[in-house]
Amino acid sequence: MLDLAHEAPKPKVISGAKSDWELVIGLEVHAQVSSKAKLFSGASTRFGAEPNSNVAFVDAAMPGMLPVVNEFCIAQAVRTGLGLKAQINLVSAFDRKNYFYPDLPQGYQISQLYHPLVGEGEVLVDMGPGVARRVRIERIHVEQDAGKSIHDMDPTMSFVDLNRTGVALMEIVSRPDIRGPEEAAAYVAKLRQIMRYLGTCDGNMQNGSLRADVNVSVCKPGDYERYQETGDHRVLGTRCEIKNMNSMRFIQAAIEYEARRQIAILEDGGSIVQETRLYDPDTGETRSMRSKEEAHDYRYFPDPDLLPLEIEQDWVDEIAATLPELPDEKKARFVTEYGMTEYDAGVLTAETENAAFFEEVARGRDGKAAANWVINDLFGRLRKEGHGIGESPVSSGQLGGILDLIAKGDISGKIAKDLFDIVYTEGGDPAEIVEARRMRQVTDTGAIEAEVDKIIAANPAQVEKAKANPKLAGWFVGQVMKATGGKANPQAVNEIVSRKLGD
Ligand code: ADP
Ligand code: MG
Repeated sequence: MLDLAHEAPKPKVISGAKSDWELVIGLEVHAQVSSKAKLFSGASTRFGAEPNSNVAFVDAAMPGMLPVVNEFCIAQAVRTGLGLKAQINLVSAFDRKNYFYPDLPQGYQISQLYHPLVGEGEVLVDMGPGVARRVRIERIHVEQDAGKSIHDMDPTMSFVDLNRTGVALMEIVSRPDIRGPEEAAAYVAKLRQIMRYLGTCDGNMQNGSLRADVNVSVCKPGDYERYQETGDHRVLGTRCEIKNMNSMRFIQAAIEYEARRQIAILEDGGSIVQETRLYDPDTGETRSMRSKEEAHDYRYFPDPDLLPLEIEQDWVDEIAATLPELPDEKKARFVTEYGMTEYDAGVLTAETENAAFFEEVARGRDGKAAANWVINDLFGRLRKEGHGIGESPVSSGQLGGILDLIAKGDISGKIAKDLFDIVYTEGGDPAEIVEARRMRQVTDTGAIEAEVDKIIAANPAQVEKAKANPKLAGWFVGQVMKATGGKANPQAVNEIVSRKLGD
């Protein structure tokens, strides 16, 4: 498959009081695995259920309960790894990450520290036509989610909802390859898009299905290149980690704020303390939450309740064989197959449902025209009304029918817009509507000629002016269109008018 040539975007530079600074960003994205059941129990993962109704004994850490790994969740993580062109580790293992929190009844989270299921991969982050950043993935490990503490329901008590406890998460760890706030948001968007194509995470950020810990540091121009050459990350600045971001807008605002905060400290002769910070959307600031914890603070050790996870290459190959065409490949194919711009291909492939709809419209028809209608007329209107393609009142068959009528010359492009509006608001078969409402355009040149003659005869003064200034011919075209209710073939009218005025 053709690979669209991309150049790397320039890193974001912030001018401090004393010098220029560049941003270095690495993300740890937590993606909830799309699965009906939890990672180690059969309890449901349904969002929005009655609190504490989706809780198995093992989720509540009842004594003697043992976790049993859900094969489907592992398959989903493997599928995600394959979609990110990553190494799949046939042997991985689960570790206990110990900490105490009311919404973590076990007193530890089962995660994968030492031997993650998925190793190195990469993502191409689109930053506009012809420009993309390659971001390396360090690893993806599988782990349990915690429950939810609710502090704002009662003045004296806190509540705990264990519905989310034990739901499978994939933690996708990037290398510090992201170089600006927009890139960070675009990286999350690309991961989300790929996982939605794969069906491994619904990407719903509002419901918390996708959230990111954002690591930010600043360095001097040239430092990052030195880091890449030598692999020595000490030339980079000390980073801070902003926890639990679940909005693209906030991710960008938090990075921007955090970078400026660090620059101010450094230029003041201070140094950055590595720590975990929280972003406050109300103030737009980040504030310290706790000093950075080290692995030993969590007293990690292999979970004795679970055997190492061994999977077979054949099984991985089976999953690989079911992978759909992914966004980058689909986009490249749309550019070559339909002759559209990379920008349009990007719009059409944003969601796999959009791409499928477009291809149904384009099949056997003019691809460029189909792209225009789908993007500008259909998507444009759906967006204005706050709908997705799933709620489109116009089917691909109906839109294809409109395109066929234009291609046959039955209707003009202008009438097609009216027809589209009728189909959109009232439904119906486009060809039948054209017949029933007499919308077919007049291509009979004799009829058009008669109309032109009539108007020329009635407007001798205008004719004189138009003969002196051919630009005024448009007035006659307009009159003919008006007289025919817009149904005259505009091309034919143009030709006839200029011929008659030239006589
Ligand atoms: P730790 O072992 O302390 O968890 P990692 O090396 O695994 O740290 O990195 C955690 C995250 O921080 C990764 O996403 C990584 O890309 C990012 N990161 C590492 N160094 C930097 C840096 N100097 N600036 C920004 N992000 C960084
Ligand atoms: Mg790490």
